[in-house]
Amino acid sequence: MSLNQIRQKTIAKSLEFSGTALHTGEKVNLRCLPAGADTGIIFRRVDLENKPEIKAEPYNVVSTRRCTSIGLKEDARVTVHTIEHFMAALWGSDIDNILVEIDNAETPVADGSALTYMELIKEAGIKELPEERFIKRIEEPIWAKKADMYLVILPYEGFKVTYTLVYDHPVIGTQFFEYEENNDFFLKEIAPARTFGFEREVKALHRRGLALGGSLDNAVLIGDDKTVNPLRFENEFVRHKILDIIGDMFLNGYIYGHIIAVKSGHQLHVELAKKISDSIIKR
Ligand SMILES: [Zn+2]
Repeated sequence: MSLNQIRQKTIAKSLEFSGTALHTGEKVNLRCLPAGADTGIIFRRVDLENKPEIKAEPYNVVSTRRCTSIGLKEDARVTVHTIEHFMAALWGSDIDNILVEIDNAETPVADGSALTYMELIKEAGIKELPEERFIKRIEEPIWAKKADMYLVILPYEGFKVTYTLVYDHPVIGTQFFEYEENNDFFLKEIAPARTFGFEREVKALHRRGLALGGSLDNAVLIGDDKTVNPLRFENEFVRHKILDIIGDMFLNGYIYGHIIAVKSGHQLHVELAKKISDSIIKR
């Protein structure tokens, strides 16, 4: 055993949370239970017959429309939407293994960031397991690209995300931010960054059955020339994009690498996560 080995972790005791789902607008109850080593992140749909389970991993992603959804390909009912903020909270809390019981098809949005979930996990406590964590190391550059959006991960002895957000909108414009792994920094600088949406798109989204649970309590709403509710950070948008990437990349567990992203969204994130999954070497 090397001195710097990291042990796997789970939550010390179960925790519960209820809230509204961002897209369906429905009430959801979540119950998280401790899990043993090498379990990973498992969602269990307790409202469905036989309580089917879905493991959070790249090849279980069934949709990336506006959020990241995992599911069972053989049964379309067995889906959990919008896992990315919760996944980012697990990553930020240093959790490897957890069982998440959920009684609806989408996680509760909480405050639109990872902060609420991180506070709940902190309250429940973290339990170290005897088994060592496998950190997957990127051996050569891997990328995903679509039109002017791209995403690359480079070999790096640590975890870093560099994001450039470009939006043709006066309230966002171009924002750049870089995050390098350090738990306190994540909790303070990335975890509180909320999801965002445009006032002018709300009606169209609702017609498509999206953002039905969105409110000023769980998202930054962007008007024509200013935000409707106050920002937590001047560049909250780019920080939230980093939160999304971290949540999506955690589909592969803990990895070392430097991610450089320009205008990327869930579709590219998951494409990259699949490529990483194909290439990773456990050690
Ligand atoms: Zn998000």
